[in-house]
Amino acid sequence: MHSLTDHQTALAEADHCVKCGLCLPYCPTYGLYADEGESPRGRIALAEALLRGQLAPDDALEGHLDRCLLCRACEVHCPSGVRYTAILDSARARLRESGGGTTISAPDSPLMTMAARLARTLHLPGLRGRLARALPVEDKAPAPGSYPPAGPPRGRIGLLLGCVTRTQQPGALQAAIRLLNALGYEVVIPDAQECCGALAAHQGDPDTAQRQVEANRSAFAGLDGMVSLASGCSLHLAENLPERSPEDITPFLARGLQAHPLAFSRPQGPMALHVPCTLANGLGATNPLLELLGHLPETEIHTLGQPGGCCGAAGTHLLTQREQAVRLRQPLMEQLEELKPRYLLTANIGCALHLAEGAISEGIEVEVLHPVELLSHLIDSPGGI
Ligand code: SF4
Ligand code: SF4
Repeated sequence: MHSLTDHQTALAEADHCVKCGLCLPYCPTYGLYADEGESPRGRIALAEALLRGQLAPDDALEGHLDRCLLCRACEVHCPSGVRYTAILDSARARLRESGGGTTISAPDSPLMTMAARLARTLHLPGLRGRLARALPVEDKAPAPGSYPPAGPPRGRIGLLLGCVTRTQQPGALQAAIRLLNALGYEVVIPDAQECCGALAAHQGDPDTAQRQVEANRSAFAGLDGMVSLASGCSLHLAENLPERSPEDITPFLARGLQAHPLAFSRPQGPMALHVPCTLANGLGATNPLLELLGHLPETEIHTLGQPGGCCGAAGTHLLTQREQAVRLRQPLMEQLEELKPRYLLTANIGCALHLAEGAISEGIEVEVLHPVELLSHLIDSPGGI
């Protein structure tokens, strides 16, 4: 776990890397390119040289640092405990200071606006339409305010709307409120909340990221905890706002259902389950999705991909690193084609959009949902505890 890091701290962190290479076999970009510059060890060396002023920014250096997915598989497998993400964030910030770095950072702008702009500038015909169709938006994001349970509340929990989730997956937010209320929690949506800060932090803009963290620190004060539906946001909050007890909604609900079971109907077909790398590697939580779905009767669940693997969505990579994102997604599409599940469940909005867009491209019929949407559709006892 790390918080937003200055360059000196990042250099001290890079010193802990003993260049053993034990992380290399787990790195998806090294697996794709077999190039040291696309490996964790290579990127740490490049970041170190950049931060010490021994290497001037150029397109090649920027490319190596940009293509990192921040999937954190390297951190999980590093015997020296190197906090790789802190080093990479810092190097990206230095690139931005020197006039380079990713230029599409717009943490509060709707993803579709970004997609439309990029589809034009990067010549990606059809992408915007496929993304727009990827997750049908039938609900409105819940309004700020308080959503009480039927009886006396077990606690007051803040809900982070998320800058992409609120526009692309508002039904999942409504579903989360329904489940939390059914478990006896009052849900509070503070009006003054902002983006979690992950997009800005990972695109070399720590000042914006810090401002967003501070805004959320104030907005979520006085509650018993807070939850987020996108595991990427949950991870950023866990690392930067621990005093507000943030948690991803999937382990929170899995625990809640364990203590206070609710009745659910049987799902109407098999499910494919995608565990985002931010959940598996970042939050060290591989089981909450299975635990959560284990509360449904008679389920057939198939896990997609390798444990801790990355689907390629990687924040804005689904837009900015199209070729790499599609190559990393392809094995999951082949598995999906073979399994032909009724549902594809994932707990991060970026992964959901990327996988759903892939399914449309490949002509695979599957309903892509956040697990809380499926649970909410199948709940038998909405007020029943
Ligand atoms: S975060 Fe992921 S893509 Fe980046 S260097 Fe580590 S393992 Fe490779
Ligand atoms: S990041 Fe860790 S595992 Fe990878 S080369 Fe450095 S010390 Fe070894």
